[in-house]
Amino acid sequence: MARRLVGFHVLRGMGVTLKTFCETYPWGRAVLRVLRIPSTNGLVTIEYPEVKQQHSERFRYFPFLVYDGTPDDLRCVACKICEQECPPQCIHIVMEKDAQGRPVKVHGRTLPAQFDIDMSICMSCRICVDVCPFDAIEMDNAYELSASDRFEHMLFDKQRLLKSNEYFQQIKPTEASEVDQRLAAKQKKTAAPAQAQPASAAPSSPPAAPPGAGPAAPPTGRTPGPQPTGPPRAPQSPPPGA
Ligand code: SF4
Ligand code: SF4
Repeated sequence: MARRLVGFHVLRGMGVTLKTFCETYPWGRAVLRVLRIPSTNGLVTIEYPEVKQQHSERFRYFPFLVYDGTPDDLRCVACKICEQECPPQCIHIVMEKDAQGRPVKVHGRTLPAQFDIDMSICMSCRICVDVCPFDAIEMDNAYELSASDRFEHMLFDKQRLLKSNEYFQQIKPTEASEVDQRLAAKQKKTAAPAQAQPASAAPSSPPAAPPGAGPAAPPTGRTPGPQPTGPPRAPQSPPPGA
């Protein structure tokens, strides 16, 4: 039985080869049309580099950093999660800090001063993309990167890694649109409490203590707050950008 199965699969494989051979030539495609066998362009080689193969959206090569709008509007906040998770340890990140050593913020976010990936070590595993909580790093499908000098040409710095979200939408429309939707939903979620804050922080008189009641109990929660018997709190100003 097993022998018969092996024979069947050998014949099946030869059939695929024959079909691909026929698909490669106009006469062969005509024969397949007459036999009503669905066919495609069976060419297995192309005249590279003049002709380039169209890759599927899932094709991936090396990672790149995504920015929205202008290159200073990086999604990356230099959290270093990808650096820690990268199996061959080919990512190196340094956060942007001021003279006092405090993180610098641009567009309300911290950012990397240095972000390098050694592409000669990268194994295109995509783990950095999967672990990034900010959808700041994605896989590129540019593959013509051969170079004779590994250190000069294959060590990508931040400037070389930066690519726009429009580029991402162009090379991987399905994935980019999923990411855009996810980010829009996240933004909506964080914007909602920020807008609700001024209303909830409206001035209100503290509840009057019943006559004869002892000193008010301290407020509960992680951060000790003022005693409820104090003067009414001034309304909090809404956070910038709310
Ligand atoms: S790419 Fe993502 S995971 Fe890596 S440092 Fe930037 S924000 Fe963090
Ligand atoms: S694709 Fe894999 S190997 Fe390459 S930088 Fe990302 S985590 Fe590291």
